[in-house]
Amino acid sequence: MKKTGCAVIGYGGMGGWHTRYMLKSDVCELKGIYDINPEKSALAESNGIRAYSSREELLSDPSIELVTVATPNDSHEEIAIAAMKAGKNVISEKPVTVSLESLDRMIAVSKQTGKLFTVHQNRRWDCDYRMMKEAYRSGLMGRIFGVESRIQGSRGIPGDWRGIKNRGGGMIYDWGIHLIDQMLGIINDRKIEAVYCRCEHITNSEVDDGFKLDLFFEGGLVGHIEVGTHHFYALPRFYMTGTSGSAVINDWRDRCEVIHCTDSPEAQVKPVITAAGMTKTMAPRSEDTMKTVYIERPDSDVHDFYRNYTKAIRGEAVQYVTHAQMRRDMAVMEAAFKSDRLSRKISFKDDFGEDPIAP
Ligand code: NAD
Repeated sequence: MKKTGCAVIGYGGMGGWHTRYMLKSDVCELKGIYDINPEKSALAESNGIRAYSSREELLSDPSIELVTVATPNDSHEEIAIAAMKAGKNVISEKPVTVSLESLDRMIAVSKQTGKLFTVHQNRRWDCDYRMMKEAYRSGLMGRIFGVESRIQGSRGIPGDWRGIKNRGGGMIYDWGIHLIDQMLGIINDRKIEAVYCRCEHITNSEVDDGFKLDLFFEGGLVGHIEVGTHHFYALPRFYMTGTSGSAVINDWRDRCEVIHCTDSPEAQVKPVITAAGMTKTMAPRSEDTMKTVYIERPDSDVHDFYRNYTKAIRGEAVQYVTHAQMRRDMAVMEAAFKSDRLSRKISFKDDFGEDPIAP
């Protein structure tokens, strides 16, 4: 099968990842890169990759069918639109852009030109996320009422463009978009009714260097997302709880542990004696009323993203990350910023057309 001719605009950290992938890909053939910084072009050449001397030169190469945009967040719209207008299909790095208005302009050009356009939501292939999706579906925990997703680092916000507001910096755009997209993939059977978000500014007053976001879904289910950059102990990566069980993934290298209740209410509760008194309500359950099962790490290959997209370009598949999903993710981010700005819960109109079920 003929490989798809590909190019990458922006040869930094993530652009480097895309080119390394394309060089060994079964579906892509890397034609070259363009970077605004001549040092990056020289680096690409030293790695045996053609560096086009201008974006126009890259976009006028007829052997390129697919352009991946891996530049800072504020520049995705302009570059993606130029690429689609030049007849290229486009993958934008995440976040696809910095506002719903901007995203709608990009989608409009995709429709006008007939070129495909998507965003690289590569963390849909993370094993921890896939196990949590499975736990949610499993029915082991009764009625689920809470899903928590956390990423807590200790190194602060990076000192590059990620700390600058008008470059699309901040952790909501950086990690938040992954965790929001995943949350909507796990809880894929109900609509969001409201959003509440508190941003942190521990070392950066311009952009959020962490945040706590609650998504209130129909039926009383709350999805809680946290990103932090100053945590020297990290809380579990995922936690889910229902009326008869809980699931946890402590670390993204772990499998998912699900504990579920086999005998409720317990016949006999042994109270716990604490220094200040006793409690039955909070006493741990006896082991014979609980069963632990494990959801094993699935096989997952992030390169299926490109396999799907190159097929979609040939009209043989539907792109995994759809425009409706992109719009819904972006609307959640906008609602999060608004909630933080107004210091209150924001109601959310969840009408994004097609069924937002993530692969
Ligand atoms: P980076 O700073 O390492 O690299 C950006 C590169 O873009 C630089 O080499 C810069 O010179 C170049 N550039 C800037 N403006 C340009 C322009 N107008 N035209 C051409 N080149 C230009 O940043 P990064 O960490 O590689 O992030 C790039 C994008 O990838 C961001 O949108 C980021 O959110 C995303 N990203 C995604 C993931 C993921 O897991 N999906 C991980 C990291 C970064």
